[in-house]
Amino acid sequence: MKKQNKEVYTFQSEVKQLLHLMIHSLYSNKEIFLRELISNASDAIDKLRFESISSPRLYEDDSTMKIQISINKAQKTLIISDNGIGMTKQDTIDNLGTIAKSGTKSFLQSLEKEKNKKNELIGEFGVGFYSLFIVSEKVYVRTRYAGTKPEEGTLWESSGEGEYNITNITKKTRGTEITLFLKKKEEDFLEIWKIKNIISKYSDHITVPVNIQNYDEKNKTYFWEQINKAKALWTLNKSSITEDEYKKFYKHLTNDQHEPLIWSHNRVEGTQEYISLLYLPKKAAWDIWNRENKHGLKLYVKRVFIMDNSQKFLPNYLRFIRGLIDSSDLPLNISREILQDNSITNNIKKSLTKRSLKMLETLSKNSNKKYHTFWNQFGLILKEGPAEDSENLSKITNLLRFTSIKNNSSEQTLSLKEYVSNMNEKQEKIYYITADSYISAKNSPHLELFKKNNIDVLLLSDRIDEWMMNYLVEFEGKKFQSISKEDTSLNQLTEEKKIKNNELSKEMINFLKKVKNLLGNKVKDVRLTYRLTETPCVLLSDSNEMTTQMAKLFSAAGQSIPELKYIFEINPKHLLIKKICLINNEIEFEEWIKLLLDQAFLAEKGNLENPHKFISRMNKLLLK
Ligand code: ADP
Ligand code: MG
Repeated sequence: MKKQNKEVYTFQSEVKQLLHLMIHSLYSNKEIFLRELISNASDAIDKLRFESISSPRLYEDDSTMKIQISINKAQKTLIISDNGIGMTKQDTIDNLGTIAKSGTKSFLQSLEKEKNKKNELIGEFGVGFYSLFIVSEKVYVRTRYAGTKPEEGTLWESSGEGEYNITNITKKTRGTEITLFLKKKEEDFLEIWKIKNIISKYSDHITVPVNIQNYDEKNKTYFWEQINKAKALWTLNKSSITEDEYKKFYKHLTNDQHEPLIWSHNRVEGTQEYISLLYLPKKAAWDIWNRENKHGLKLYVKRVFIMDNSQKFLPNYLRFIRGLIDSSDLPLNISREILQDNSITNNIKKSLTKRSLKMLETLSKNSNKKYHTFWNQFGLILKEGPAEDSENLSKITNLLRFTSIKNNSSEQTLSLKEYVSNMNEKQEKIYYITADSYISAKNSPHLELFKKNNIDVLLLSDRIDEWMMNYLVEFEGKKFQSISKEDTSLNQLTEEKKIKNNELSKEMINFLKKVKNLLGNKVKDVRLTYRLTETPCVLLSDSNEMTTQMAKLFSAAGQSIPELKYIFEINPKHLLIKKICLINNEIEFEEWIKLLLDQAFLAEKGNLENPHKFISRMNKLLLK
């Protein structure tokens, strides 16, 4: 190795910050550095395989891919090498001197917040390479990009403290060789058995062989011993894979430290051939709500890794599903653009969507507890389904969970199947109400009639609910009905008969007329109601009008909407109404009616156009 022109560089400030954290914190499982390095080596080999599809010369007459680990006890070094794609000098500067990923800033922030979750986060955010400074006091990275001349190698060296050096070197073999000079306290990692244990714990499913240099005492010779199975798990027969292997593979695939809730492994043969392995995580990724969140499956073509986060194989509302797809029909040189409108992709997407929904259904049947975990993490995302995927509407509807009057908790655990099976004999519709919060839905005056008649009502209060309900038309032949809307079908359900005009007292008829005159076109209509028990009056949307919650959604999105006109319903049995009926003073009467209307607005919308007017009017009347 001939050293020339050593250059000194400083790390990007984020890297410095990160290295500081790495070096000065106490890790419980330091061993993850090995997982990260093996994973990088394996990625580098995957990249070479992929690149050499179009330029086979990159192989340089050596196409047997391998990762090698050797230990030098005398020098206290651990050496990890691969014959993957390698790096150019510029690559080492870009990849090992900066953090290119935009997520790193948020990583550092989350680290501050959740110090105890450090290891978990390191994996999730992919700051893998730098983790070697947890155990090393100095590091050499010798590397050469595949297909370049031996003299074009690079030596990158650093002790992780602000600077690194780069030197041009000659390296015969392509790929990367990383030498870790272990810290004094970390000399455990010089034990072969220990390294073997760690590799089989984290890296058994790496598809390239990982070999360790061992010493044969008898013959006094060194030999290479393969530690991992080096077989792509998904290509194996389902029956030969244990639960534990599936779980380990999931962790390897996703860097998620939690076990998956369930998985589905399938091999499809016939006109289209592919293998899919889908997992349902237990916890949402830290950035799942970020619009730029990278989700999607890992794509392989005939066992060759092609790309990460391929979003084309699952609809958006299933973006929490992780896993991989290995197709035998797609061309190896496929690009994201070509994937976009490819009939093979579309067909696979269709069947993976069905499989994912099936997987969720199975989970819901097997374990309420697990399904509830899933629903709490990802329910809001699944609720996008009815709008996005009309083809699978009934399957998605079946998977939704709600809370209701009878459920009596804000936890969404009730399925529509259960709701329907507990329906009142004469009940034909599924009743629901949408509101800003669970408390507000639960206490809505619209519920009074239903409570009295022992009819259950779904209480919806997630922001997306109103929008979702637009796409839910029916379930098992039962139509959905918002109870804040006019609904004539209620008549036959309840004991209360609709109040007929000819049964009304003269006073009431008069009263109604007076109110109508007074309110004019402030409301769509004024009626007496049999719906209420404890509340004097309520506002109802007409059956063809937009609901209050929908209007809120629109205006939150900055869209202008025509003013909503409500039906004002008055409860003639309420004491307050009976009292107001008797008021002769026109001005006082008007004040009372306007107060009642504002009360109804407040209950319906949660706010008033002019709250001050409402308060001063109320105070005036209270003083009387
Ligand atoms: P990630 O693997 O998530 O990209 P890392 O911090 O583990 O992040 O690695 C940073 C980058 O350094 C990699 O993306 C890759 O470009 C480069 N790199 C690391 N190790 C190797 C290697 N053995 N061979 C080639 N490139 C490597
Ligand atoms: Mg990595």
